[in-house]
Amino acid sequence: MQEAVLLVHGGAGKASSYPHKAREGECKEALKLALQTGYNILRNGGTSLDAVEAAIKTMEDLPLFNAGKGAVLANSGICELDASIMDGKNKRAGAVAGITIAKNPIMVARAVMEKSDCVLMASHGADVFAQEQKLEIVTPSYFHTKENLEKLKQVQAVDENIEPSKSGTVGAVALDQEGNLAAGTSTGGRVANKYSGRIGDSAIIGAGTFADNKTCAVSTTGYGEIFIRNVAAYDIAALIEYKGLSVQKAADIVIKSKIPLLGGYGGVIIIDRHGHYAMSFNTETMLRGYITADGVSKIDIHQ
Ligand code: ASP
Repeated sequence: MQEAVLLVHGGAGKASSYPHKAREGECKEALKLALQTGYNILRNGGTSLDAVEAAIKTMEDLPLFNAGKGAVLANSGICELDASIMDGKNKRAGAVAGITIAKNPIMVARAVMEKSDCVLMASHGADVFAQEQKLEIVTPSYFHTKENLEKLKQVQAVDENIEPSKSGTVGAVALDQEGNLAAGTSTGGRVANKYSGRIGDSAIIGAGTFADNKTCAVSTTGYGEIFIRNVAAYDIAALIEYKGLSVQKAADIVIKSKIPLLGGYGGVIIIDRHGHYAMSFNTETMLRGYITADGVSKIDIHQ
């Protein structure tokens, strides 16, 4: 079986949904850049946690994805961002929900893990925490782009907020030279015009993100409410721990059976301590890629 050291995803969805169709080339380049950024850290003996954070930060900084700059806007007209990160070495975790002024939500999630005694911080309090931690602060309009503003207008014009109109949540999972796993996820939410205050699986440890050296590191994307109700990321790890399933089998059970059973859609990237990995999804597309210890990378979008 082929092995990898780092996997990234850029969301799962319909083939026609933005940004996949118009911007496939750009998205592939962006995933490659994220992989290379994380890989450089791992190759130099850095931690899986650093690699995951750096790969996600790279994607948050690009307006192509539904994370950080360019993320979908809530019905309040601002980006309310969710992110989480977990260290498989000691199962420490940090997460933020509905934050609005930190340039890189994944860095705030990490600060929650390392600089507070909390696991999850939300909204205004988390924004204040990001400021206190001297993380890079921006105005909420930094996250605006022509596209996310137009999308909100369109969706509000038809009073429609249920169609999965944009994919592009980002995530990463990594294995470092010490054999430690880490996972992280970052998003603006499932749809433009989401309820202000809505929190998805990307902020929930065990649903959108999970890492445990004993089993695997997992990052999900898709219909977050269904991933929360299935405790999806942890469920995959539990299938590996208690049933001894392979990463691929465990991922497929959750993504291809359990999630659709409740009307959900989406996908997942997983890696275990041996570098065995899986990328499973039940949608037409999932932006995804991996890189091996030799630096060979592969990016795919469609089935
Ligand atoms: N899972 C994310 C959420 O529900 C959205 C996505 O991955 O597309 O917030």
